[in-house]
Amino acid sequence: MKGSYKTAGLMLVSALTIIIMVVPLFRQMMTVEPIKKGPGVTAIKRLSDYFAGLKGTAGDTGVYLLDSGKPGGTVLVLGGTHSNEPSGYLSAILLIERAKPSAGRMIVIPFANASAITHTDYAEGSPQKITLSTPTGPRTFRYGSRATNPIDQWPDPDIYVHAGSGQKLSGSETRNLNRAYPGRADGNLTEKIAYGIVQLIKQEKINMSIDLHEAAPEYPVINAIVAHPRAMDIAAETTMRLQLDGIKFGLEPSPAKLRGLSHREWGDATDTLAILMESANPAQGRLRGVTNEQLVLEGKDPLYEQAAKLGRLFVPFNKTGHPISERVARHVTAIHELIKVYSEKHINAKIAIENIPSYQEFLTKGIGFFL
Ligand SMILES: [Zn+2]
Repeated sequence: MKGSYKTAGLMLVSALTIIIMVVPLFRQMMTVEPIKKGPGVTAIKRLSDYFAGLKGTAGDTGVYLLDSGKPGGTVLVLGGTHSNEPSGYLSAILLIERAKPSAGRMIVIPFANASAITHTDYAEGSPQKITLSTPTGPRTFRYGSRATNPIDQWPDPDIYVHAGSGQKLSGSETRNLNRAYPGRADGNLTEKIAYGIVQLIKQEKINMSIDLHEAAPEYPVINAIVAHPRAMDIAAETTMRLQLDGIKFGLEPSPAKLRGLSHREWGDATDTLAILMESANPAQGRLRGVTNEQLVLEGKDPLYEQAAKLGRLFVPFNKTGHPISERVARHVTAIHELIKVYSEKHINAKIAIENIPSYQEFLTKGIGFFL
């Protein structure tokens, strides 16, 4: 009897020790690198300012307004729909910290799913954070998960039924923001975030909305612009111009029957021109080798080089891989071009953004140089 008390005591002490050791690591995951207020930022709001149902929830998130003060159109840029796709949120942060509109407005949401950035998908072996060297020292960003943190929304149903269409997907997709649009005011947290973003698009009268993503190199829609039918002419012209500059982009129409996605539902539920972009992140792929921070940042993987030689990929993949600077360069350059093409077609709702580094500058100096 005495022995079992001793064992129980020892187990209790070890459990407490492990908890004390782990709690700071766990809490660290809730901390996201602060964003610097750039020269173009004129106001910082919260998503709950557009939909009060998000106030005080893990889904509320920062909304950065960059207003030129001159009349024109408004473009929305979303990063962090999927928090394991860092070129999206890093491009959004870069725009907040550097861009300066000279006509119209730009609104940026860097962490569209603020809950997903606090979660790490351990089944994927993902790193918890990534660190970039910048002129002011190292800056560390969270590497989050594709979906809403289960702490904030649980349990998943066996089958996720998209509210607007009845489309059925696997249960875990219930926490995927890019299957939740146009969202529901009285839905689960992910549907509420989606609803909040759609309210923002309506209330701010956003003319063009761009959702930034990354995907595995073996995914067919990669290095591509996906456009709602109403945005197709702008996306097509942008793609052609980028090709002429030697930056290869695919063009994909938003499938009418694939529901819940930003490029479909934003365009159907509002007047905005809805666009989504994908860059190639080998850290998300099924064919990858060791999954670590280096893979996320350098984007090099001998297994993907081999897969490319065998013709299994939808993007070129050589020794250079797809480093984060190239992936951010693609997003930011395409955003800049989309805005230019939009403005040429809508002279009464012009948007002009200055102080955006060029594609070549990103490649030669690296993204860290600009943060
Ligand atoms: Zn994505």
